[in-house]
Amino acid sequence: MTQSNGENQVPRDRFQLLRQGIQNRSNRAKKRVQNITKDDVKGFLTRNAFVLLTIVAVTVGIILGFGLRPYKMSYREVVYFSFPGELLMRMLQMLVLPLLVSSLITGMAALDSRASGKMGARAVVYYMTTTVIAVFIGIVMVLIIHPGKGGKDEFTRRDKIEQVSPADAFLDLIRNMFPPNIVQACTQQFKTTYGKRVVHVRVTVNDSFFNLTNGTHVLSREEVIPVLGTVNSINALGLVVFSMGFGLIIGSMKEQGQPLRDFFDCLNEAIMRLVAIIMWYAPVGIMFLIAGKIVEMDDITQMGSQLAMYTITVIVGLSIHALVVLPTLYFLVTRKNPVVFIGGLLQALITAIGTSSSSATLPITFKCLEENNGIDKRVTRFVLPVGATINMDGTALYEALAAIFIAQVNNMEMNFGQILTISITATAASIGAAGIPQAGLVTMVIVLTSVGLPTDDITLIIAVDWFLDRLRTTTNVLGDSIGAGIVAHLSRHELEGTGTDGQTDNSVVEEKDKTYQLIPINNEHDNDKTADGDSNM
Ligand code: ASP
Repeated sequence: MTQSNGENQVPRDRFQLLRQGIQNRSNRAKKRVQNITKDDVKGFLTRNAFVLLTIVAVTVGIILGFGLRPYKMSYREVVYFSFPGELLMRMLQMLVLPLLVSSLITGMAALDSRASGKMGARAVVYYMTTTVIAVFIGIVMVLIIHPGKGGKDEFTRRDKIEQVSPADAFLDLIRNMFPPNIVQACTQQFKTTYGKRVVHVRVTVNDSFFNLTNGTHVLSREEVIPVLGTVNSINALGLVVFSMGFGLIIGSMKEQGQPLRDFFDCLNEAIMRLVAIIMWYAPVGIMFLIAGKIVEMDDITQMGSQLAMYTITVIVGLSIHALVVLPTLYFLVTRKNPVVFIGGLLQALITAIGTSSSSATLPITFKCLEENNGIDKRVTRFVLPVGATINMDGTALYEALAAIFIAQVNNMEMNFGQILTISITATAASIGAAGIPQAGLVTMVIVLTSVGLPTDDITLIIAVDWFLDRLRTTTNVLGDSIGAGIVAHLSRHELEGTGTDGQTDNSVVEEKDKTYQLIPINNEHDNDKTADGDSNM
């Protein structure tokens, strides 16, 4: 009919069709709104209970914090007031060690070496790409905004910061990857400290000078030497390396490895159930963490203009990375809506703001990715613990930006070589930084030392670090989560056909190259057959 009416008629008909379509849609939407029942509302509230509660908690925490500030609580009172928040941190940290180890071991064991190799390569490429982009954004922002204009006059606080040579820090990173004692790795990391030793030198004098008589003399001088020390903090890097290797091996051990695979699988499941319980307490904890911090923080109106500009520069840089770069990357690779994906992560992101620790947030990140965003357990178990340990986009961006800011307040012009050095050391420092509050500030020493900047100047930015730490931790968690989404999408073909439930994966992959692969392993009768099959081999 449209064609018989001639060419001019076509657009009008299309227009009518479009109008009709829109009308139909709006009628359907109206009907749906009219048909919303109490149960629907209840269902929505139950599904999103955690997120809603967490948002309410943050709001109440902010109001409570600012409401209590005028009362000028003593330090002791602030500690008591923040106690419910401290409890949340403790509960989450309690789960990190078993969660990290069990998820990595089961994650690696569930994949054959080819699949894990491919997935690992994708994850590493993603980590490197996003970290390099983050560092680049940090450098560009600080060079454009130039927050350090005007010298150091407005800063007063100066303390002594312990020095670390970049070479020693690098060696510590490698040392921590291979802990000689796996039990010690659960509580301690290696960290080079510096000591002095007296060196005696024998000198033979043939001619008398400086009042020395001819003959052999022993001269003594002091020399600074690196001493291998430890600090009390979980060595996540060492545990990641060990668990990956261990998981890969028990994954290849066929039925001999099955008891261990079952053990770690069960451990992982039990920890995730504990996480589900702790999640109910999380909103209360987050509320007190935020309120406590607001009560205790310094008066922001006293902040100097340079520090304020520096804070704004970091916020702008982190926002560009978290709200533009990462979602765009997610969309380009997966062609899915990043807003929906990030919506599913809200609770993890808010927990990151509250705790300032990507490690402590890890249990919640797992829950959000698996339950809200439907990411395959084999990917989260494998990618998330590694990401939380080594992939810190927010920290990398922050360290590069802060180092150049410190150069600016010292009126030091950085040349291209120095900026490149800062980029490389900031990347390394972010890998080495632990996922704990303000760890980035500690590893900043390496970046500053590498280009000869005064490390004591870190104290200039300490006043705002508690706040910026929360934002960079959130960026770190978002980076890890989007990484898991991207790796899951790219690895979907390898994951297809090997089951989607993490609990049954081990057995499926394990049995894959055998003729009796379809036999369910929890059936007594079939177990007999499996034993037969084995003896036939
Ligand atoms: N607090 C950050 C994290 O846990 C590390 C940092 O200080 O940058 O991810």
